[in-house]
Parts: sequence; structure tokens; C-alpha cells
Amino acid sequence: MGPEESMQIQSNLASTIAMAFDECPPYPAAREYMQNSVDRTTRWLKRCRTELTRLNQLEDTINKEQMLFGINQGGTFEDIRIEHAKVISEMDLNGYAIGGLAVGETHAQMYHIIEETVPYLPLEKPVYLMGVGTPENILEAVERGVDFFDCVYPSRNGRHGNAYTNRGKMNLLNAKYELDERPLDKECGCPTCKMYSRAYIRHLLKAKEMLGMRLLVLHNLYFYNHMMEEIREAIRDHRYQEYKKQKLEGFVRSED
Ligand SMILES: [Zn+2]
Repeated sequence: MGPEESMQIQSNLASTIAMAFDECPPYPAAREYMQNSVDRTTRWLKRCRTELTRLNQLEDTINKEQMLFGINQGGTFEDIRIEHAKVISEMDLNGYAIGGLAVGETHAQMYHIIEETVPYLPLEKPVYLMGVGTPENILEAVERGVDFFDCVYPSRNGRHGNAYTNRGKMNLLNAKYELDERPLDKECGCPTCKMYSRAYIRHLLKAKEMLGMRLLVLHNLYFYNHMMEEIREAIRDHRYQEYKKQKLEGFVRSED
């Protein structure tokens, strides 16, 4: 597959946003490899734009308004990241993603790269951090200018017995929940927390009954979505710093 095929497939899927066809370089990667890879990603981005513009004009295209987001790469080399951000910003795309993070570097390195790169992306366009992350990662990235996210954590970790709550992450396979009749999180408004106890969910997981995983995924997706609502509200009310501090303090309280 190349950039043209990628655009054709995404055009057929008719998603709101098509993501550029890029290379996500491995971590760690040598500087020379990284520079060559980023240059190729830039060449591919131009081909993506040409092809998507063509597709959006075709009579039988389902979503003729399909947007194209470019993807910033450069690993942990800040100068390569910044240079690439400048080049793709000039292409005037609908939005921009930061890719190639959360691939093995430390959280501190990831936050640093976001901090260095975001100022070189257009302020009026959405910024999307790909494949991130924990509730803590999201709070830190929002502070550095990221608008949206995607991540497998709420679903994959849910299937592995984990629930995200305002008091941190809990693992329902833990024996201490065997007779615990309380909901996962009493502050949560999701259907799982309204109807099922920790003990019952644990029982379902132990019995390898699929419903246990589904209830946890439902709760986790609700938790993440609700947190994003809270974040938007806190930003609108100019109290994001205070909100973030409280939320982070909550995550490290040991859940009861
Ligand atoms: Zn819940």
C-alpha cells in the first residue's frame, strides 16, 4: 500500500477525517534514519493531499467533505520535529496529528516533545495526539495544547480486568473484591456502575463470561468521555490548572 491506496480506502470508508499515510519510526532510531523517514513522510503527505482532493471531487464519493490531517514525526529529535511541524503547517491541512510518541520513550520525553512541537502547529487547527494514553497522559497533553486523542487503553485494559476511576486504576481480578457489593465508582453515572457490583463483575471475569469484559469496557469508555467533557468545561471556565491538579491528586488516592 502507498499514499494513494490509503486515501482511496479511507475515502471509501467515508470517515470524517482521513489520516495521512506516514511512517511511524521505531524507538530508538538513529538520527539519519529519522531524517530520511520524516522526509519520506512529507513527500507522502503531498501525494495524499493530491489524491484526496481528486477523490473528494468525484461524483460517487460518499463523503466529499472528507478532511485530511497531516502527521508530525521526528521521534525524540526536537529539531526534526519542529522543522517537520513548520513544513506540514504550510500545507494548510484541516488538522494536525503528533504521531510516533508512546512507542517506548519516557513520559517526560513525550511531554517535552509535545511542548516543543505544538507551538509550531497552526493555533486555529485541531491537534491530535495519536495512540495516547492514560488519563494522566491526557491531562498533561491537554495542558500542552492537544485537542484530541485515541487509545486502546479503555477497551484493552478493560478486557484485562482493569477499571479507570477517579481514585486511580483498579484490577477487578484482585481477591479483595470477591464480596465487594459496591459499584466500581460511586461517582460514576455509567450503566455498569448503576446496575452491577464489583463482586459480580469479578465473578464474571473469573468465570470467563464475556459480559464481565463488556461491562468494564463500557465503564472505561464512559469514564474517558466524561473526563473529556469535564476538561472542556474546565477550559471554558478558565480553571483548567485547578481541575487538573484535583484530578491527578484523586488518581493517586488509593481506591477503597
Ligand atoms: Zn461506571
